[in-house]
Amino acid sequence: MKKHNFYAGPSILPQEAIDATIEALKDFSGTGLSLASVSHRSKEFDAVINEAIALFKELLNIPQGYSVLFMGGGASTQFALVPFNLMKKRAVYVNTGTWSAKALKEAKLFGDVVEIKNPDFFSLPKGIEVHKDTDYVHITTNNTIYGTEYHEDMDFGVPLVADMSSDIFSRPIDISKYAIIYGGAQKNLAPAGLTFVIVKDEVLGQVDHKIPTMLDYRTFVTKNSMFNTPPVIPIFTALQTLKWIKTNGGVAAMYKLNTEKANLLYAEIDRNPLFKGTVAKEDRSLMNICFVMEEQYKDLEADFLAFATAQQMVGIKGHRSVGGFRASTYNALSKESVEALIATMQEFEKKNS
Ligand SMILES: *Cc1c(COP(=O)(O)O)cnc(C)c1O
Repeated sequence: MKKHNFYAGPSILPQEAIDATIEALKDFSGTGLSLASVSHRSKEFDAVINEAIALFKELLNIPQGYSVLFMGGGASTQFALVPFNLMKKRAVYVNTGTWSAKALKEAKLFGDVVEIKNPDFFSLPKGIEVHKDTDYVHITTNNTIYGTEYHEDMDFGVPLVADMSSDIFSRPIDISKYAIIYGGAQKNLAPAGLTFVIVKDEVLGQVDHKIPTMLDYRTFVTKNSMFNTPPVIPIFTALQTLKWIKTNGGVAAMYKLNTEKANLLYAEIDRNPLFKGTVAKEDRSLMNICFVMEEQYKDLEADFLAFATAQQMVGIKGHRSVGGFRASTYNALSKESVEALIATMQEFEKKNS
């Protein structure tokens, strides 16, 4: 039976991307060899990484003066690499939940960090003013665990760094507003093991200290992300996902469908007397839709999970730190899956009234 995959990450990818990867693991690009067994210096893989970088730039409309890097280590390694490569003295971190708190903790190893946060993580801080003498501001554009998301490109008058692990390619962005965008690829792009970085070249090389070769973005810029062996298989899958995005109308079309899916599900959460949303309406994420049972139905939580599981819903349990439910509605999740979840919520409502 068809599963409806709402996992937050690793998470759903286009079936075409999975199928093409399976094929390449058997016979990569007509070489008669597995993708897992071919040199990353081969002309066949060189074509893959070059096309992936080119499509990455094309789909996000990345202007001249920016580089796209493919690294390892996950977004969590970027939490340290960003301040190591960028911070001279002081940075501002907008703390909007678990991931940005981790980024902030690493930044404190490298300089003064001004923390901006709301009393809880169910809304985003507004009206932030930043001192001109700030090296950069760091934000997390989509908060995968709490389900908040920025719906516009921010501008604080100083370089902007964004963790876009869970909303890259989900909506059009104005890259020129950012100094660095980074993320783990395992939410909306590729299997785990690949980290993407978009960097404005001119922000690099401004710190006084030495940076080890593999921790220096400039190594990846000058060597086309091939100073050492890159994560070959996830890069191949990323290319297939990017092709799928292009075939399906590009990032604008992803955004349109993501908006439709999210509106449908939030409308049901707001209508259904058993459930309620957790996030301030204007900050609701299009990618990770969080909800809980209304107070008087709290003891039905486990029942609903079991009921949804029986309807082939996978991955809707909320993150262990917040509880409740979370439906992740990444690009590759179809509208049918969202409709199936809504039908499940409505059936559960009937059973319990
Ligand atoms: C998943 C996630 C991370 C952690 O990514 P890793 O690649 O596992 O280090 C960081 N930030 C955000 C917003 C995430 O969703």
